[in-house]
Amino acid sequence: MHSALRKIRLVIFDIDGTLTDGRIIINSDGTESRFFDVQDGAGIKFLQRAGIEVAFITGRNSKAVQKRAEELGVRHIIQGAVVKLEAYEKILEITGMKDEDVCVVGDDVLELPIMRRAAFSIAVANAVVEARNAADYVTERSGGRGAGREVAELILKAQDKWRDILKRYTDGGKQ
Ligand SMILES: [Mg+2]
Repeated sequence: MHSALRKIRLVIFDIDGTLTDGRIIINSDGTESRFFDVQDGAGIKFLQRAGIEVAFITGRNSKAVQKRAEELGVRHIIQGAVVKLEAYEKILEITGMKDEDVCVVGDDVLELPIMRRAAFSIAVANAVVEARNAADYVTERSGGRGAGREVAELILKAQDKWRDILKRYTDGGKQ
C-alpha cells in the first residue's frame, strides 16, 4: 500500500473539512472565519522543505484561505473550483507533475474524481463514508485537527525523510 507514497512529489489538499473541521463562521459583514491547525501548517512546511510540493483546491472563495496559503508558502491554490478535476489538471499542468506523482487528501464526494486519478488518495477521519471507502488510507486524526500533519508524516516517513526533518530540532536546536 505504501509503495506509491515513496514517489509522491505533490500533495493536493482540499480545505474545508480537510484542513479545517468543516465549520465555517459566516460573519455579519459577509466574511468567513475558519480554524486552521498549526500542526497541519508545520507539516505542510516540512513537506515543502523535503522538496514535496503542496497545493490547495477548494470549492469556496475566501481571502482567509488565500492568506493561509501565503503564510505557508503554498503557491498553487485554486479557489471556487466547482469541478475539482479541472483544477487538478490545471495544477498538474502548472507543476509539470503526473498522476503517479500526486497524493490527494479530501473529506467528501466532491474529491472522488481526483482521488481516483491520483496515485495515492487519503480521506480524513471525518470524511463521508464514500470518500473513506475510496481512499488508499484513512487518517486517524480529523480534518482541522491534525489530519494534515498525519499526512505529512506518513509521506515523509515512507520516503525516509522524516528523520532529517527532526534532526533540525533535535541537534541542539541548530538550524
Ligand atoms: Mg471538503
